[in-house]
Amino acid sequence: KLYNQVQDLKGNIRVYCRVRPFLPGQFISMSTVSHIDDGNITVITPAKYCKEGHKSFTFNKIFGPTATQEEVFSDTQPLIRSVLDGFNVCIFAYGQTGSGKTYTMSGPKELTEEGLGVNYRALNDLFHISEQRKDTFCYEIAVQMIEIYNEQVRDLLANDGVLFKLHPFSTIFIHDGFPSHSNTLEIRNSSQKGYNVPDANLVPVASTSDVIELMNLGQKNRAVCSTAMNDRSSRSHSCLTIHVQGRDLTSGSVLRGCMHLVDLAGSERVDKSEVKGDRLKEAQHINKSLSALGDVISALAQKNTHVPYRNSKLTQLLQDSLGGQAKTLMFVHISPEMDAISETISTLKFAERVA
Ligand code: ADP
Ligand code: MG
Repeated sequence: KLYNQVQDLKGNIRVYCRVRPFLPGQFISMSTVSHIDDGNITVITPAKYCKEGHKSFTFNKIFGPTATQEEVFSDTQPLIRSVLDGFNVCIFAYGQTGSGKTYTMSGPKELTEEGLGVNYRALNDLFHISEQRKDTFCYEIAVQMIEIYNEQVRDLLANDGVLFKLHPFSTIFIHDGFPSHSNTLEIRNSSQKGYNVPDANLVPVASTSDVIELMNLGQKNRAVCSTAMNDRSSRSHSCLTIHVQGRDLTSGSVLRGCMHLVDLAGSERVDKSEVKGDRLKEAQHINKSLSALGDVISALAQKNTHVPYRNSKLTQLLQDSLGGQAKTLMFVHISPEMDAISETISTLKFAERVA
């Protein structure tokens, strides 16, 4: 029994590594990833990082450049069922800009059926399993989508006063009159709901197509604040939160679970001598929140009594879903190019610290 408990605790944090393929049109040179074997990955490093010229890292699972979206999701699937059982789950995508975070979570820009990312597949499964359980449980599923940029929380589903109609049966919770570019929201803690963002729109969903529509709106809102020079999506964290409430039809008791799907800001270090002003401020905020996240997960992995949740908005928001009974999955992404090697190594080191 004790052995099982220990196994369970250990099983609450998982780290998967995914290697992006070389992209069409890209000059294909030698990949820095020389070997993948189950949970081990070996990268070729210039001597200044490691004098042997190569270094190995161990994670729960490695997905090579040919892994499909379906394969990646099939190892994520057990977490989905636990949300319907009333557990909280966090799934993160970590890595430098261009390494494939958004591809894993959402999919490629031109979305195809095979390309659908973890977000869509997770919701699909939620709908599917709740349908299978419909004789015993009545489930309600609703989503929020927020962005954290420079330590400010913004609603990505605010629609400038236009009522957003998904389908005839859903109650629309969209608040009207939110100026989508200026609202910054508070994270609150309530005894019933735990840590949450009560003022962000909570939209009930009943099908994957509802979700696709909402995610398109969210992406559009995220784009509002970026210019060609200034792709904000790589410098903010976006978080899709799926709230699930299930009522047991015989006992009447209610269980709640939620799943946060987080596409993190790019983890690349910026050269402080080269950036100033807003760009420097952004970089400092990203640095701070990613290291706060690393500190929290590694404190949990080492079962420290003190877990420093309060050091960033991201870890405050996710407090109820990191640690305790909650389950965490971190996808770390690496690019195969030699000129990304220094970021690749720092990404793998970050991941090793939380694994
Ligand atoms: P990030 O969100 O980390 O900045 P993206 O997800 O936007 O990176 O990926 C950068 C580019 O690489 C995109 O064009 C994306 O479609 C492509 N890409 C990323 N991962 C894969 C993959 N596993 N297979 C094929 N293309 C990928
Ligand atoms: Mg991205």
